[in-house]
Amino acid sequence: MSSKIGCFAFCQSRHDSLHNGICRAPRIALTNRVQIFHDPRCTKYRRSGHPERPERIVRTVPLLKSRHGEWQWHEPRAAADEELLRAHSREHLARVAKASQDFDFDTPAYSNIDFYARQSAGAAIEAARAATGGKGAFSLMRPPGHHAMRDRAMGFCYFGNVAVATLDALAPADGGPRPTTAATGKVERVAIWDFDAHHGNGTEALVAHNERIMFASIHQYPGWPGTGTKSFANVLNFPIAPYSSRSNHVRAAEEALEKLLEFKPQLLLVSAGFDAYKSDPITQMTLERDDFATFGKWLADVKIPTAAILEGGYSDELPELIDEFLSNWGS
Ligand SMILES: [Zn+2]
Repeated sequence: MSSKIGCFAFCQSRHDSLHNGICRAPRIALTNRVQIFHDPRCTKYRRSGHPERPERIVRTVPLLKSRHGEWQWHEPRAAADEELLRAHSREHLARVAKASQDFDFDTPAYSNIDFYARQSAGAAIEAARAATGGKGAFSLMRPPGHHAMRDRAMGFCYFGNVAVATLDALAPADGGPRPTTAATGKVERVAIWDFDAHHGNGTEALVAHNERIMFASIHQYPGWPGTGTKSFANVLNFPIAPYSSRSNHVRAAEEALEKLLEFKPQLLLVSAGFDAYKSDPITQMTLERDDFATFGKWLADVKIPTAAILEGGYSDELPELIDEFLSNWGS
């Protein structure tokens, strides 16, 4: 084990800790009870034929509840203007609030999308705060967020949930609304690990050149949105060719996580997208169920506060993929 990767310092070796998940170090990042932030109302909007559909969540909730009675469920609150404005322009907030024309082909102007998007961003903030307070947390919400730009909704995303949560974690305690529901610790550096199959172009744009943030995205390229080919400043991009071998993909994800941990963040946020799965209908990648279990095992060995936020994942197996990830993280 390289000593420079301090967060894995207890592990016998990098190979042991990451590939096989047999680190014998005490696990402090996550209690055995996964904290899930979820609002059932996030399933109340849909457009016929759209892959980002309510069933993604509707089928996941009962599966997790039936298998993991000990996990704790929390209803999130809406993100406030002050919190969203750390990432987005006031004009963008107004456009989402009054959405009447679709933002683009992928990103409809659903009725009340402002409400749903604010709940999703609020859940990301609350999950990050729960992590900072010592509890590993997962936001099980829609819409996703990692394609939303400062001034633009795109790619099924309206607000940059993970970027909003990151900027909230870095904000001074007296610099904005901070509910008293979660304990807060001092966070100087945040790392974002985005394993969704699409480049986290929105997150990249919202955090680029912020020295207190390190962002890594592992994604299909060529593929939508067609960005994320180069690393720069605080951004690490790992483009993966369509139909690449699963082992190459997993190795890139591992390298990305290691580099993020070298940054010595006090908080790790995960853009957890499950659309790199081999059977996902909108990508051409090859990960299997076990690989998402592996990602969860890695997080179990990361000894810093960690929260994950659902991004994509459009196959019918999404509930099982989420369970593999969370079960191995929270075990
Ligand atoms: Zn995606």
